[in-house]
Amino acid sequence: MLTPDEVKARAKALMPGLTEDLKDLVSHASCSFPGFPEEPVHEMRRAAIDVLERHGADVHELDLGEGKPAIYGEMAGPEGAPTVLLYAHYDVQPAPVEAGWDTDPWTAEIKDGRLYGRGAADDKSGVIIHAGTLGVFEGELPVNLRILIEGEEETVSHIGPFVDANPEMFKADTYVIADMGNPAAGVPAVTTTLRGNVIVIVKVKSLEHPAHSGLFGGAAPDALLALIKILGSLHDEAGDTVVPGLAKFEWNGTEMDPDAFRVAAGMVDGAELIGSGTVGARLWSRPMASVIGIDAPSVKDAANVVLPEAAAKISMRIPPGADSENEVGLLIEHLKKAAPWGVHVEVERVRVGYPFSARMDGPAVKAALAAMQAAYDTESGFMGSGGSIPLVARLQGISPDAEVILWGAEDVAEAKIHASNESVDLSEIEKMIVAQALTLQTLGQES
Ligand SMILES: [Zn+2]
Repeated sequence: MLTPDEVKARAKALMPGLTEDLKDLVSHASCSFPGFPEEPVHEMRRAAIDVLERHGADVHELDLGEGKPAIYGEMAGPEGAPTVLLYAHYDVQPAPVEAGWDTDPWTAEIKDGRLYGRGAADDKSGVIIHAGTLGVFEGELPVNLRILIEGEEETVSHIGPFVDANPEMFKADTYVIADMGNPAAGVPAVTTTLRGNVIVIVKVKSLEHPAHSGLFGGAAPDALLALIKILGSLHDEAGDTVVPGLAKFEWNGTEMDPDAFRVAAGMVDGAELIGSGTVGARLWSRPMASVIGIDAPSVKDAANVVLPEAAAKISMRIPPGADSENEVGLLIEHLKKAAPWGVHVEVERVRVGYPFSARMDGPAVKAALAAMQAAYDTESGFMGSGGSIPLVARLQGISPDAEVILWGAEDVAEAKIHASNESVDLSEIEKMIVAQALTLQTLGQES
């Protein structure tokens, strides 16, 4: 049994090496989106396996039958000890340079204690935290460990059906999901709720071919205009999502300061928060539909025609307590009803991810809170997250009595995950290694 000071000393000693490892992981452009180069994704997976193995993990590539393989491993602890599954993902969002990066997204740079690069926080920091946690124990694990590092969290994932088909591999007493973050660096909090996420593509067709806008415009229905009307029907004047029947709830957890939120979101001068209610309610307990992409001619290529076809991708966040299958049905029905002028509308389901609400009274969450307090030398709280991790609800499904700990080094205030200039505070990684190691030790002790 290591004392908290011993755990801290070991984590500190591991950090220089882990920082180099994270720099290397960032250099692999592991975007798993369809159409992106696949080789960097495979290189990233091999690099992650290497980092984990060098820190004592016994892991291998896990072929899911479809899509990018995951990383999986099982490591035995003391006889009779509980089983803990550590989760992270090795794929990342794209990092288009035109989104305004100050540095090359695939070349890690350290400034004021933060390491910049795509995936530095989301979620290559999770891989590093798990490696560091193993490193702290130097081969003497206090619990039975399972590791799952997914390669398609940010895109169409194939892990869910694989988990359903092979539940024995993924059962655990406690799941530790290192793909979250504190409200700000140095301010510890365990995440207790996640929004679900449903994604659909709406396609509009109004004509068999483009028509000259001088000869036909004014009477022939324009597909892009129809699409704009459909998309415009999703929100009211305030910006609340108004698809009829969607579930919404009250928010009773930690609140988020509106001014801090403005800064973190990068809102321009004079821009207003959209929606109604407290910031916490808007982010964590209500549905929110966003248009995340549109297929239409670019401004540069625009010809003077009535457009025959247009499409948009809609991502809708679903609050905990809502049924995603039901909500995606309501969204599709609403989109079809909103179509003007008899244009043809097709809606394709891309993803149906479930929201999640953690049990907060179990021994693992208590151990996690105490461990965070020891790691950060300050009291730890609970927070919601507007993000979604579809797999979490599935894991809870195969181990209904298991507790789920959601945390990580992706601080909300500065990490800018999914955006340009993503970064991670290296001291957050160190503290999260301490928190995870202490949690595992407590869980091992209690068995
Ligand atoms: Zn993530």
